[in-house]
Amino acid sequence: KTRTRFAPSPTGYMHIGNLRTALFEYLIAKHDDGDFLLRIEDTDQERQVEGAVEIIYDTLKTCGLNWDEGPDIGGDFGPYIQSERLPMYKGYAEKLIELGGAHYCFCKEEDLEKQRAEQGDSFKFDDPCKYLYQDEIQAKLDAGEPYVIRQTIPEHVMTSYEDQVYGTIDVDADDLDEQVLLKSDGYPTYNFANVIDDHQMEISHVVRGNEYLSSTPKYNMLYDAYGWERPTYVHVPPVMKDEKHKLSKRNGDASFQDLVAKGYLPEAIINYIALLGWSPETDEEIYSLDELVKIFDIHRISKRPAIFDIEKLTWMNGVYLRNMDDETFYEAVRPYLEKAVEKEYDLRYIAKLIQPRIERLNQDDISEPVDFLDHFDENYDLEMYRHKRQKSTKEKSVVSLKAAVDALQPLTDWNEETLQETMMALPTQLGVKNGVVLWPIRTALSGKRVTPGGAIELAYMLGKEESLRRLQLGID
Ligand code: GLU
Repeated sequence: KTRTRFAPSPTGYMHIGNLRTALFEYLIAKHDDGDFLLRIEDTDQERQVEGAVEIIYDTLKTCGLNWDEGPDIGGDFGPYIQSERLPMYKGYAEKLIELGGAHYCFCKEEDLEKQRAEQGDSFKFDDPCKYLYQDEIQAKLDAGEPYVIRQTIPEHVMTSYEDQVYGTIDVDADDLDEQVLLKSDGYPTYNFANVIDDHQMEISHVVRGNEYLSSTPKYNMLYDAYGWERPTYVHVPPVMKDEKHKLSKRNGDASFQDLVAKGYLPEAIINYIALLGWSPETDEEIYSLDELVKIFDIHRISKRPAIFDIEKLTWMNGVYLRNMDDETFYEAVRPYLEKAVEKEYDLRYIAKLIQPRIERLNQDDISEPVDFLDHFDENYDLEMYRHKRQKSTKEKSVVSLKAAVDALQPLTDWNEETLQETMMALPTQLGVKNGVVLWPIRTALSGKRVTPGGAIELAYMLGKEESLRRLQLGID
């Protein structure tokens, strides 16, 4: 059965690269009707951040990446928090010693330092404890000497594995360090716990960042020493900020939370990050999570680092907003619209008008297009806003505005229909093109170059009194 896991360390931040890994794990499992697990890797207590686990839960839930087994819901392979699994690892480490895959190491920090000083940059610890006799080891253990358990790497062998994305990875075992598996306090290192847990939890596909490509041979040696089947590896390229830099918290790059706070929809974020390092067979770019599950194919994951392009995400977010039905969009923008305008307006009507133009759900983006409703800037330049193609002039614009005022003044029913009829009669009456009349009216009503809706919609929103007042100001 296909089983994947998202195994974050709770460091308080869900960056886009983490989320993309979780997404790929989810898609790989669900594409095969398999299980997606959540495991919290908190053996490194120092890096722990308060509240970090909640951020992980919230992010995955908000994105619809629901896990089948995890710390909060349990499962047959629990516990799913490493710190609750601690007693188990020691037994595994001791077993590994018996199997020849690890050894006790009684060296002190000074011993390592000495070698580091001698070897310089190419430091690789040559552990003298590997050569201890069994009775020497036993004596040290009996005497209560502190120890760690280190992995024993066989000498002069080539080790190789197939990665689903990067292909065959060959590594000379002599280049691998004999990493600590169990620390002197009896806690496992991350590297050890990760392998034991993946095996115990019957993970079929290990999906993670490509920074683990080169440690994987060491993990494979653990699997081999225990006689366990190795998982399938899917290492994914990093998500970059630009050609050279990875996205990172330290550089203040956007996290999922930041993006949501800026008005990006979780569905759009998920859709966008699915395309970071993966591509479908067609040029279609808009996919729901369910559609992604259907079409996701490991073999279309690229080795090339993907660059996070906020403009592309913004565009895609706009597509999602435009695709919302009227009611959903209205409910989404209403809280912002209520703050954006002071007077009583038909907010449903305004929502419909701004829907084609809004790309993010935040106060600034929603306030900006409607700011002219309550705040009219009388100092706009009518000339500046004239319709370029109409080659109109300020004089002609004033003629249009006058005609508009005369025609609109007598209207008793101020609605879209009557406004449409009245305004659309003006160009014929004046013998000019539509734009020569409608552009100056729109400009005079808004004082802006770009507005949601045209002359008719603006007049309708502003109401008769305010519309006539603004048109008159354009004439004076
Ligand atoms: N806890 C590791 C991390 O956050 C997970 C690595 C893995 O998926 O194997 O990077």
